[in-house]
Amino acid sequence: MVQSINPSNNELIKSYKEISDIELQNTLVRMKTAFENWKQQSFSFRSSLMKNAAEILRKKREEYSKLMTLEMGKPISQSRAEIDKCAWVCDYYADNAEKFLTDEIIKTDSTKSFVTYQPLGVILAVMPWNFPFWQVFRFAAPTLMAGNVGILKHASNVSGCSLAIEEVFSEAGFPEFVFKSVILSSSRVKDLISNPIIQAVSITGSVPAGKSVASVAGSFIKKTVLELGGSDPYVVLEDADLTETVQTCVNSRLINGGQSCIAAKRFIVVKEVYDRFTEMYVDFMKHKKMGDPFDETNDIGPQASVKLRDELHDQVLRSIEAGAKLLLGGFVPELKGAFYPPTVLADVKPGMPAFDEELFGPVAAIVKAEDEDDAIKLANQTVFGLGAAVFTKDVARGERIAKEKLNAGSCFVNQFVRSDPRLPFGGIKESGYGRELSVFGIREFVNIKTVSIK
Ligand code: NAP
Repeated sequence: MVQSINPSNNELIKSYKEISDIELQNTLVRMKTAFENWKQQSFSFRSSLMKNAAEILRKKREEYSKLMTLEMGKPISQSRAEIDKCAWVCDYYADNAEKFLTDEIIKTDSTKSFVTYQPLGVILAVMPWNFPFWQVFRFAAPTLMAGNVGILKHASNVSGCSLAIEEVFSEAGFPEFVFKSVILSSSRVKDLISNPIIQAVSITGSVPAGKSVASVAGSFIKKTVLELGGSDPYVVLEDADLTETVQTCVNSRLINGGQSCIAAKRFIVVKEVYDRFTEMYVDFMKHKKMGDPFDETNDIGPQASVKLRDELHDQVLRSIEAGAKLLLGGFVPELKGAFYPPTVLADVKPGMPAFDEELFGPVAAIVKAEDEDDAIKLANQTVFGLGAAVFTKDVARGERIAKEKLNAGSCFVNQFVRSDPRLPFGGIKESGYGRELSVFGIREFVNIKTVSIK
């Protein structure tokens, strides 16, 4: 059985029965058949169904938002924004997939040569709980529009969301078995990847999960896209607008209760403004309210589970032991759920967990840098490379640093890193490889085929 536990009070929401091996095999066989038909449908047909999916999301916004908040504890207003973004990505690929995948003529010595983008078949998505709808829709919208079919193994604690997503596609009129959610524990993912019907895998999750999926898929020569963890650095230079910068940095650290792969995690501040930034940061952070995620006056809800909250607290304690200065929070409250307060650690240095590891919760690590060069060096001194940001009033300076100096998949200037259907999203180093969203995302799971005619 797979259980969904309400992180606000630790009570069981529902138990779900895992799919049996025989049911799973039957599902895969039916999906393979569904693919043969689906890949022949026109873009305009697929697009009309994807538009329906967007409409259903908008119609059932409140129901799905409440489900997300119940299962993983994100503030309800952020759940609503997540549903809106899912509808956006459905519309975006409904409008653009055909343009992105149109044959491209290339002049050669042949009479006619062109590149065509053909779907691959049944694609497996292994997804995390932190953005239970968004992570799935940003995979599913391009994948299905390209003519593939998708099977979802969602994180065990959001099985209700997993089934609700299948319901969206079904109500939108997608043929049966074009999109399927299956409830199964992560120990069975290896076998699923090895099944010959699965053609490729997209995983969003932690580095260990990514390594495991990539190594199994690699042994069967199946393509993977890996969207893994991050420890995004935000570089604050001496000429930054400190009021705006601090607000952006705090909000970016606290979004989704701090449980976002692209949340700002390390704030690397040059020495001229370090003390002022730190003081303002603590001041701003201490007004952020933790509590019931259904109460709209709260800024953060609980963490997704007590286990994850306790691991986070352990990282904080180990950082303090290694010399970090605790300026705010840093304790486990006497509350029934998985709550953890907004926390600030200053004087964080390489070698401390708050610098070296991903802290997946509302804990800010503030790091002092000597100057711009030192700040960039510290920013890049990480095994991750997902997002990064730089804050300076000199936009040309910011652009140069973002483009040439920061080693990450997305580098933003004077704003927090966010995903957008129109822009490619993904990482380098242990944050993974491959890209989601934009034209790049839809070309990950297609055969980029050359046709050349004499
Ligand atoms: P997780 O524990 O790695 O789980 C992610 C998914 O992988 C779940 O469906 C999980 O299933 C499954 N899984 C876990 N171990 C596995 C294994 N050994 N083999 C196959 N599947 C496995 O991560 P999470 O706690 O849900 O999510 C948080 C992590 O995701 C953070 O590191 C965060 O940075 C990262 N993330 C990255 C992005 C990005 O775009 N780069 C976006 C969001 C989150 P069970 O739940 O059944 O264990």
